[in-house]
Amino acid sequence: MTMTVSANACVTCGACCASYRVSFYWAEGDDAPAGVVPHQLTEKLNDFRRCMQGTNSATPRCVALQGDVGQAVSCAIYENRPTPCRDFDISWQGSNDACDRARAKYGLAPLINIVQVA
Ligand code: SF4
Ligand code: SF4
Repeated sequence: MTMTVSANACVTCGACCASYRVSFYWAEGDDAPAGVVPHQLTEKLNDFRRCMQGTNSATPRCVALQGDVGQAVSCAIYENRPTPCRDFDISWQGSNDACDRARAKYGLAPLINIVQVA
């Protein structure tokens, strides 16, 4: 049996959404033909890239992040979130130091893989 500490760890965390600049190719925005990310929630970085509002800051917090980091959070645009969010692995799914570092910033312990066989 697989014990998932953590399939749901992200819903009580959200630290990565409030730690890093979330930037991506501009055409992921829904103002481009195949884009899905609500462009009103983004800001231009340069002619090629944009980022989620609130993340291009010394104290980043994505505008789409709802709730309290380390308590209960959700992403207001989960189905339409940009590529870096989709590609950001929770640390136990592989090795993602950025997950551990973000959690540490908010006093949250690193996640460990506690897969067990019953
Ligand atoms: S920092 Fe890690 S555990 Fe927290 S929300 Fe991001 S991916 Fe999930
Ligand atoms: S778009 Fe959603 S998943 Fe991505 S940083 Fe913002 S709140 Fe987090």
